[in-house]
Amino acid sequence: MSGHGNIAHVITNAPDFYPVNVGSTDAWLEFTCGICGTAINGAVIATARDLPVKWIRCVKCQFGSVVNGSVQSPAPERGESVDGLPDGIGAVYGEARRCLGVAAYSAVDLLCRKLLMHVAMDKGAARSLTFGQYLDHLQQIGYITPPLMPWVDHIRKRGNLATHELPTPSEDEAEDTLAFTAQMLRLVYEMEFRRSRYLAPIIAKENEPGEGAPQARS
Ligand SMILES: [Zn+2]
Repeated sequence: MSGHGNIAHVITNAPDFYPVNVGSTDAWLEFTCGICGTAINGAVIATARDLPVKWIRCVKCQFGSVVNGSVQSPAPERGESVDGLPDGIGAVYGEARRCLGVAAYSAVDLLCRKLLMHVAMDKGAARSLTFGQYLDHLQQIGYITPPLMPWVDHIRKRGNLATHELPTPSEDEAEDTLAFTAQMLRLVYEMEFRRSRYLAPIIAKENEPGEGAPQARS
C-alpha cells in the first residue's frame, strides 16, 4: 500500500473525520496519471463527502492529482504518442494532447494547424504560405496518402476560414484532428526514426562500381 504511506494527514481536530481502510475498494481508483502518463490504480488519499472530489496519489511517480467530478487535474495527455519528433514539433504536439485532455477543443484545432504548417516548412515549404498551400506541399511530396485525403479535404475547408470564424469543434472532431495529425507525424518522422535505429544511414559511395541508383526489386 505504498501509495497511502508516508503522508502527513491534516486530521487533528478536523470536523467529521472519517477513516477508510487502505484495503477497501474506496481507497483505490483506476486513473491515468497526468504527470507520468501511467494508467494505474491510484491511491485515494482523501474523498470529500459533500462534493464529488477525490485526491489521488500515483503509486508510480508518487505525485498527486485531483478529480473534481469528471475533470482530472492535471489532465492526462490524450491521443497517441509519436516517437522521433524534433524538439519543437514534439513540444507543440504534447501541448495539443494536453489540450484535448482538458477539453480545450479549439486549442487542439489551432495547434494541429500550426503543427501541419511547421511540418510542411520543415520539409521544404516556403514561409508565409496559406494553410491550403502548406497542405498542397505535404501532398506533393507524398506525405498525404490517399486514405488521408477525405480528412485533408475536411481540414482544408476549415482552414479556409479565418481563425476568428472557426466554429468550436466537438470533442469527436478535436479527437479526429489530433489522430490525423499523429498519423502525419508518424509518416514524416517516426518511420525514419525507427529505421535509423536498426539500419546505417544510406550514404552514396562515389566512384565505386555497383553503387549509385538503387536496384529495382525482382
Ligand atoms: Zn504518475
